[in-house]
Amino acid sequence: MATTPKALFCPTCRTVVLATGEDFPFCSNRCRILDLGKWASGDYKISSPIQDPDMLEELARSNKHNRQNDDD
Ligand SMILES: [Zn+2]
Repeated sequence: MATTPKALFCPTCRTVVLATGEDFPFCSNRCRILDLGKWASGDYKISSPIQDPDMLEELARSNKHNRQNDDD
């Protein structure tokens, strides 16, 4: 029988993360956002669109934050 993993390595910093963590599989919200940033900058190739509205919202927010010099 397959067992559900109780812990994984954080994809961003390789810290061990318990499956009960609220940011699982990331160790923290910061690592989650860093990982999203990699996706957004094209370091990862994805074949399907992002469907999680929260994820899109976070991406939009971080992009806005990074573009404060752009008055347009
Ligand atoms: Zn991490």
